[in-house]
Amino acid sequence: MEPMSCKVLVLGGGPGGYVCAIRAGQLGLDTVLVAPERLGGTCLNVGCIPSKALIHVADEFERAKHFANGSALGVKVSNPSIDLSQTAAWKDKIIARLSDGVAGLLRRAKVTVIEGLGILRDGKTCLVDTASGRRVITAEHVVIAMGSEPLELPTLPFGESVISSTEALSLSEVPRDLAVVGGGYIGLELGMAYRKLGATVTVVEAADRLLPQYDAELTRPVTARATELGIAVHTKTEALGIDPAEGALSIKPSTGDRLKVAAEKILVTVGRRPRTSGSGLETLDLSMNGRAIAIDEMCRTSMRNVWAIGDVTGEPMLAHRAMAQGELVADIIAGKKRAFDKVAIPAVCFTDPEIVSVGPTPEEVRGRGQKIVTGVFPFAANGRAMTMEAETGFIRVTARAGTHEVLGIQAVGRGVSELSASFCLALEMGARLEDIAATIHAHPTQGEAFQEASMKALGHGLHG
Ligand code: FAD
Ligand code: NAD
Repeated sequence: MEPMSCKVLVLGGGPGGYVCAIRAGQLGLDTVLVAPERLGGTCLNVGCIPSKALIHVADEFERAKHFANGSALGVKVSNPSIDLSQTAAWKDKIIARLSDGVAGLLRRAKVTVIEGLGILRDGKTCLVDTASGRRVITAEHVVIAMGSEPLELPTLPFGESVISSTEALSLSEVPRDLAVVGGGYIGLELGMAYRKLGATVTVVEAADRLLPQYDAELTRPVTARATELGIAVHTKTEALGIDPAEGALSIKPSTGDRLKVAAEKILVTVGRRPRTSGSGLETLDLSMNGRAIAIDEMCRTSMRNVWAIGDVTGEPMLAHRAMAQGELVADIIAGKKRAFDKVAIPAVCFTDPEIVSVGPTPEEVRGRGQKIVTGVFPFAANGRAMTMEAETGFIRVTARAGTHEVLGIQAVGRGVSELSASFCLALEMGARLEDIAATIHAHPTQGEAFQEASMKALGHGLHG
């Protein structure tokens, strides 16, 4: 096939890569995107979108069961049941619509999409084996956006009953018993969903509590809900391996004897690692940061005109970070003066209840020796939350003492993921507590708890 040359070559069609390519195309740069799978990467095909679809279905099913058991609301439902293959068909339609949408946006931005796995020969040349033959592409700028892959445990290699999130998102039946190894983001989001769908769920976590990446105050309502749902939780526990004869997982708590956990499926969710082996990356002279490609504040790697964005650059491995980096790199290549200087990257965990964290926690700020004021407002005192049977949780605001500049905002509660936008906006705009307290928040909304928490931090809460 004819060799190709372009200004910008993007490797990877996930949120980092496709956003970078769209932006580069919009800026008039001759851009080629190489993607081996359906556009959208992990996020759209086997990550954010299918997991949130499954969580939504599980929540709706759980609600139907709640009503069937006789609820105070007066809603009557009888014998709800779930057809997971219909759920999968619905979810697949959403993914297809979104992926087709990405293809349309790339077309409109005049980006050439080449289907196949890109193999880098050097920092300017890439080979792609496509359905119609090998293609050689040379580029002035190469953007590496190859994403990440699930971590495997040596004692529980993937295969047969041991699955990663990818398989967990395409099961055709709800497993009778699901053992989840790793009680972090994926383990808890999917573990809770499968429990609501009817599986017996056991979570095995090495740390001393679930979701150890969030502070204990935030995770307490999630742990309580997991227990209420009937999820068995083993913290400070090691997963030893499978006992195939018994179809069970052997585990060993740090104190106590070995236990056997019934496990038709074992979902291993102990983290993800940047996809930095293969694809010719070893042949490049890239500085690494552990397993991740090291980058600076402009997403430059150690090689001139070779850029890296998204999960391949390490934590936090979040789709919105990848997208922001993708847009940034396209702008810089087009000659704009930019740097990744975000005040905060929001973290949202779509558990029941949901968790949002934007900026540092009070403990983290205190640890830096800064003096702070904090305000916490519980959803139990919020009218909207009461009308939605969503009284669990709170919003917490941390500000610098004296100037009242807001430094960090966390929340736990039903649907708080949607509040992350106003939390981030407040931080990016350098809001002070007085700004939030003086902003009219519509009534009745859960957002009022943000205003009230700010007022409490100022020492004059109105409703609590
Ligand atoms: P990816 O989305 O991984 O895309 C990389 C792409 O590059 C892939 O399509 C891959 O096939 C391709 N590729 C690999 N090698 C090559 C090559 N040599 N040539 C060309 N292409 C190549 N994040 C959130 O922010 N919110 C969430 O709710 C959320 N939920 C998640 C749920 C699950 C179950 C999982 C697994 C992840 C979730 N994430 C979530 C994380 C999110 O999916 C990632 O942070 C995001 O997809 C990273 O985007 P990326 O573009 O860096 O990489
Ligand atoms: P994670 O880092 O969130 O959680 C892994 C958990 O496994 C941790 O609690 C850790 O202590 C535990 N662990 C590690 N080794 C263990 C072992 N041997 N036995 C038992 N427990 C062990 O990782 P994940 O859940 O696999 O998710 C991977 C990444 O995907 C996340 O870090 C995040 O970047 C992204 N993600 C984000 C979202 C979201 O934004 N809502 C959702 C899903 C995934």
